[in-house]
Amino acid sequence: MENNESYLLNLHKHTDNDIESLRAYAEMHQVPIVDRLTLDMIKQLIRLHKPLNILEIGTAIGYSAMQFASVASDIHVTTIERNIEMQQKAQENFNQFGYTSQIRMIQGDALEQFSKVNDRTYDMIFIDAAKAQSKKFFELYTPLLKVGGLVITDNVLYHGFVSDISVVRTRNVRQMVKKVIEYNEWLMNNPAYTTNFLNMDDGLAISIKGELQ
Ligand code: SAM
Repeated sequence: MENNESYLLNLHKHTDNDIESLRAYAEMHQVPIVDRLTLDMIKQLIRLHKPLNILEIGTAIGYSAMQFASVASDIHVTTIERNIEMQQKAQENFNQFGYTSQIRMIQGDALEQFSKVNDRTYDMIFIDAAKAQSKKFFELYTPLLKVGGLVITDNVLYHGFVSDISVVRTRNVRQMVKKVIEYNEWLMNNPAYTTNFLNMDDGLAISIKGELQ
């Protein structure tokens, strides 16, 4: 499996753009950003689905927001971040890489920012913040998602702990993994969405909003 991953990572290298240079910064400063093959999968979904408005929960240094915006110049990304250092770094990056007109950052806890982002509806929502809160983010923000829109949730297999919680030693991580397991089951059984889970990198869930509300 690891051979396959290295092979594909190498094969995908020609798609590297200037934003990819931030991966080294993220690794050096231990900022978790979306894995490389997962990113390419999401960008491919963006090319297929052609979202014009994307909502992202969890900006970090702005890497994924800029990667999404880089797919087409008519894409607009609204991204929410609560950590002040991350907000500053993201804003620097949006300036440096020329994405200030395509991306707006909302500063604060995503559970409290609904009134700042409900000025529009969204074609895609990317949930990539505190993993124990994914269900809360989903419930709060999906009323703003158009029918036929996508919800993409990252880290649904969380370091392999979701499929084998017995290896988790600390209470905090165990609580968090339990929440991820609950979220995955709830999402899979949600009749308003059709969800597909991918065993790629740290696990990705792709949910499509149906007519049923
Ligand atoms: N999406 C980014 C990327 O791939 O480039 C990575 C985001 S990182 C995995 C998660 C970020 O979510 C962190 O910067 C963290 O501060 C932020 N975060 C966590 N919980 C949050 C919350 N409740 N509201 C806003 N931001 C949150």
